[in-house]
Amino acid sequence: MASIFSKIAAGEIPSYRVASDDRYYAFLDINPVAPGHVLVIPRKEVSYIFDLDNEDYIGLQMMAKRVAKAMKAVMPCERIGVAVIGLEVPHTHIHLIPITNEGDMNFANKLSLDPKEMEEIAARISAEYDRQNA
Ligand code: AMP
Repeated sequence: MASIFSKIAAGEIPSYRVASDDRYYAFLDINPVAPGHVLVIPRKEVSYIFDLDNEDYIGLQMMAKRVAKAMKAVMPCERIGVAVIGLEVPHTHIHLIPITNEGDMNFANKLSLDPKEMEEIAARISAEYDRQNA
């Protein structure tokens, strides 16, 4: 059975998309730990990031780098923090989180933002991603 993230990448479940190509998909975390929290996934369904083959692993990291650069340009933050957890959804994903303080990476403190705000943030990151990667 397809994972929830495979269904998101296939457009079968809605998401706040920020970037995608034929191999990777990036979208807002539905319960962000900070505004602009993005998940980057391979379309290929592999549960554990270190089980990806080298090509897919490097490709995923390169996609995360491009998305992080776009995020940094348009989200108020000092850096983009990176985390891999994967205990909840068994489909590889990299968390990218706009941070200013160490405490901004607190996964025990999830937000629920207004859909309009989520749409606006996704559109802002997406437009910048397209601009940087045109
Ligand atoms: P983890 O597997 O522990 O890295 O956590 C999975 C992450 O996916 C959590 O931060 C969730 O908020 C997020 N998440 C779960 N379902 C969705 C969804 N349908 N859309 C966006 N993010 C989701």
